[in-house]
Amino acid sequence: MSHLKKELKTSNMLLDWYKTNKRALPWRESSDPYIIWISEIILQQTRVAQGMDYFYRFTERFPDVASLASAEEDEVLKYWQGLGYYSRARNLHAAAKSIMDKFGGVFPSEYKDVLSLKGIGEYTAAAIVSFVWNKPYPVVDGNVFRVLSRLYAVDTPIDTTSGKKQFTELAGIVMNPEKAGAHNQAVMEFGALQCVPQNPDCEACPLKECCMAYASHTVQSFPVKQNKTKTRPRYFHYLYIIYKGQTWLSRRGKKDIWEGLYEFPLIETEQPADFAALQETDAFRHLFDGAGKLNVSVDIPEIKHVLSHQVLHTAFYRVEIEKISDALNSYLAVPYKDIERYAVPRLVHIYLEKLNGNLSE
Ligand code: SF4
Repeated sequence: MSHLKKELKTSNMLLDWYKTNKRALPWRESSDPYIIWISEIILQQTRVAQGMDYFYRFTERFPDVASLASAEEDEVLKYWQGLGYYSRARNLHAAAKSIMDKFGGVFPSEYKDVLSLKGIGEYTAAAIVSFVWNKPYPVVDGNVFRVLSRLYAVDTPIDTTSGKKQFTELAGIVMNPEKAGAHNQAVMEFGALQCVPQNPDCEACPLKECCMAYASHTVQSFPVKQNKTKTRPRYFHYLYIIYKGQTWLSRRGKKDIWEGLYEFPLIETEQPADFAALQETDAFRHLFDGAGKLNVSVDIPEIKHVLSHQVLHTAFYRVEIEKISDALNSYLAVPYKDIERYAVPRLVHIYLEKLNGNLSE
């Protein structure tokens, strides 16, 4: 398809801007699809500044597909700890195994093969094949939605099927197919640094002459979203139980957040509950039946932890017991100094970090 002149000009302007403004990031120095893949998945979790440490740590321990594929899942999760969305780490691990089994250990270069790997969607597949092999697949992430919706004043909601389709087509039209990789990186970086969500500096923008939102003074109206994500509150009460240098953990099951991660015994209530109310629950009575006198302390106030569809209001209680109750036998007993060896949800990690000093008492 012939490329429209105006779009080619836009693409070239983005490329020029990119040349002088791009950040020096370690994965940009690499043309290894494995490295690009890991960086993209990490960047879906966190901002660049925070993601850098995780990237170095992860790729140092798992420098290639083979090392990741042969690792134990627990270790992969441990290296992911702090990033949240552990399902992504699990998918990385599963995809690495598939690359070993189905592609002889060589990262596939065909878009459809990359897309077939677990945890890799259209965005990541397009990023990998365009960055590494310059294949003409447009990337469409939050930055791209924002930039394109403003440049072309497209008011189709981005969180609808038709919106995604329209923006993917538009991204393909704007992209210079001969420089697909650089173009994709340019537009994403432009969205991250120049055309930012709040108060972009449009006066300093090299694309302002061709920006329809700027011309109509409607920059802040774009992109349009149909729905605000509904979130549901949950009330978690963790019991950090201590008896002679040991504590108890359990491993989370399927069909809920944090599958396979370790946590303290947890009581979840339907409504907010203070400690007096918690003590009245059947779950609490069962857990501590036969544990003798409880010495309870609250080391830090409630932690509010926001996930994509849930807000977790979480209390942590440190409970010293006199005897091991029967109920605790169904949990994993571990010396509390060894908790760090277990992959725990970020929320529990935050608590442990705050406790820090207390752990080594
Ligand atoms: S003029 Fe403003 S809204 Fe338009 S592309 Fe530039 S920074 Fe974004």
